[in-house]
Amino acid sequence: MTELDLPEFAAGSVWLVGAGPGDPGLLSVLALHALRRADAIVYDALVDRRILALAGAGAELDFAGKRGGRPSARQPDISARLIALARQGRRVLRLKGGDPFVFGRGGEEALALAEAGIPYRIVPGITAGIGGLAYAGIPLTHRATNSAATFITGHDAESGDWAAIARGSPVIVVYMGLNHLGAIAARLIAAGRDAGEKVAIVAKATTPEQRVVITTLAEAEAAAAGIEGPAVIVIGEIVRFAAALAWI
Ligand code: SAH
Repeated sequence: MTELDLPEFAAGSVWLVGAGPGDPGLLSVLALHALRRADAIVYDALVDRRILALAGAGAELDFAGKRGGRPSARQPDISARLIALARQGRRVLRLKGGDPFVFGRGGEEALALAEAGIPYRIVPGITAGIGGLAYAGIPLTHRATNSAATFITGHDAESGDWAAIARGSPVIVVYMGLNHLGAIAARLIAAGRDAGEKVAIVAKATTPEQRVVITTLAEAEAAAAGIEGPAVIVIGEIVRFAAALAWI
């Protein structure tokens, strides 16, 4: 096999890298390269343990997420830490679950680095709302069902414009929605979606603990109870493919 000509991970720079949804096999070549070279790795709660285990022996591991009830590090503190580590001349790997620019605050961190004049690189990752679906046998688009899809955070179930999304998007992929699923389903039904429309809850996608629960909008809240996150929720006719394509 020929070797790829990969960019140098320069001392004093920060790489903002997506680690994918869990399965280490879904890391990009650039992500693995960065893991092997980094001196300091600042990672979030959603980064899989098996991925952190790929770090070089001398790398300092620095947890920046929320875990066990402890509050997460504040965003400005994380950006400041990245800048300080880079100024010490380290190769700083900022490792995030999924893709750093999809509901991952990667944009905020990149802006802080740009403002501070720190050299940086963005390495996209496989986002849970696409790769996680694939592991559940759900294609994001299919000619028979949809030519559009919406990605939305369920965090602001009360304030989002769900009526417009209900009307305009045949497929809705909800991140951070597990604890708000009842409110989300109610809003979609109120805006005209069929209460019997199919819903998939894909939890711990691409990990050995992956769980796929197929339900309907009407039953979604009850179905979500007892499911441990993280989970992406898929709403739309596309969900019916999960039965035929459960390849795991
Ligand atoms: N940047 C990440 C998203 C971070 S927001 C990405 O691109 O995937 C956190 C949300 O991501 C979770 O609430 C959940 O909705 C989703 N998520 C992340 N990892 C997941 C996984 N392995 N399985 C299911 N959902 C996941």
